[in-house]
Amino acid sequence: MVLPEDASALVRALSDQGYECYAVGGCVRDYLLGSIPHDWDFATNATVEIMKRLFTERGLKWIPTGEAHGTLTVLTDTHEYEVTTYRIDGDYSDGRHPDQVIFTSSIEEDLSRRDFTINAMAWSETSGFVDPYGGLQDLDQHLIRAVGDPQLRFSEDGLRVMRALRFAATLGFDMDTQTAQAVHGSKDMLSKVSRERILAELSKLMNAEDGRSLASVCSGFFDVLCSAFSLDVSFENGGSKLSSLARAESEHFIEALAFTPCDLEVRLTVLLSALEAAQAGSAAENCGVLKHSCAGSATELLEALKAPRKLIERVAKLSILQNRKFPADRLGARQLIAACGSEDYCRQYLALKRAYAEVARRDKTTSDELKAFDELQRLVALEIASGPLFSPQDLCLNGDELIALGWPKGPALGECLNVLFNAVVALRLPNSKAELLSVAEARLVQQNERRGYGI
Ligand code: ATP
Ligand code: MG
Repeated sequence: MVLPEDASALVRALSDQGYECYAVGGCVRDYLLGSIPHDWDFATNATVEIMKRLFTERGLKWIPTGEAHGTLTVLTDTHEYEVTTYRIDGDYSDGRHPDQVIFTSSIEEDLSRRDFTINAMAWSETSGFVDPYGGLQDLDQHLIRAVGDPQLRFSEDGLRVMRALRFAATLGFDMDTQTAQAVHGSKDMLSKVSRERILAELSKLMNAEDGRSLASVCSGFFDVLCSAFSLDVSFENGGSKLSSLARAESEHFIEALAFTPCDLEVRLTVLLSALEAAQAGSAAENCGVLKHSCAGSATELLEALKAPRKLIERVAKLSILQNRKFPADRLGARQLIAACGSEDYCRQYLALKRAYAEVARRDKTTSDELKAFDELQRLVALEIASGPLFSPQDLCLNGDELIALGWPKGPALGECLNVLFNAVVALRLPNSKAELLSVAEARLVQQNERRGYGI
């Protein structure tokens, strides 16, 4: 491995004095996978007090980010490096955090507290790779495997359940059988994990580059995702397979994930649709009628995870937009663009529809849906290229010009712009200033007459 130049300085500060210092965890995994690690963590047998002294002597900047857990963060011009004294974790009574940490002098013991074998490797220039749990082999075989007894490891910390899904999807790895069983069996542990942490892991999961790996993980671990959102959905014999009605309702959404681009909002829209459908199907099975009202809306589901307002609003809008049928002509394309309100939403609507069309094509072995999609994409592109009408702001006439014409400020002015906008979108009026002004003028006269100010 090759460390970033400024990281070598902190390693030398410790090793020159006889202390061990390893790059550890995710950065070793990412390096071996050929990707550039986005964060570098180090582990050492030096205590925090010794680190402080040695780093200061070398003129390194550090901040005490987690002294109680043995962590200092070294700041350089380009990086923040976490350096932590080797430790093992004490008991976990809250299902998330160790009650206490115990410092140790052995890197192998430090590695034993880490979640998966591929995350439990260390490297130093002097010792090379330290890999007591077979991480290198699992990387080769594309396997996510818990370090030690999987059931125990997930019962210590529920977040690991989500991390298992995340790594399987983002790396496109399989899950070792026992680890997978333990993930299913530990899904209730997610109730002990903070909503924000679940959302953070879910977002990383949704960021998997390959949609097919994502769909495969979401399908195989759908029960776990239901638990992540605290949804009440019935599974066959209490297992991890959805019961039939819920499955019929949700399956095509999950399959559609395979065809989505790497876009968090698009993917959440699809996943939440699958969850809503499963919940509605499940409720119908239990109550004997289809009770769509039982299903939490996309907004409620994301609010429960304390998602940022902007994300909730965008996914809620996409959830509504995706129900719009493919428009088949120019007029329909213009109305769609206006309903989307921005180029971004148009792109995302098209991405959603393309994913659903791909699933439909596969199911029916016809390409009708895809043909309709291609035609729509062509129409939308044409409209956008020729000056799109996303909102009344795109009219060749603005509010100030209406005021100059004599329109009073207030809601009627906005209403007039909306009427003009809808007429232009519907191709009943050209988007030209002269035409718009003359219609606005006529409306003003009409309005004044109605109010009794007319001649
Ligand atoms: P990424 O940085 O890409 O999100 P990562 O695996 O590096 O993934 P970090 O949060 O940076 O995740 O954690 C660094 C290392 O700490 C991990 O590789 C793993 O060895 C260990 N680790 C992190 N979270 C846990 C956990 N919940 N349980 C056990 N070990 C963990
Ligand atoms: Mg990391």
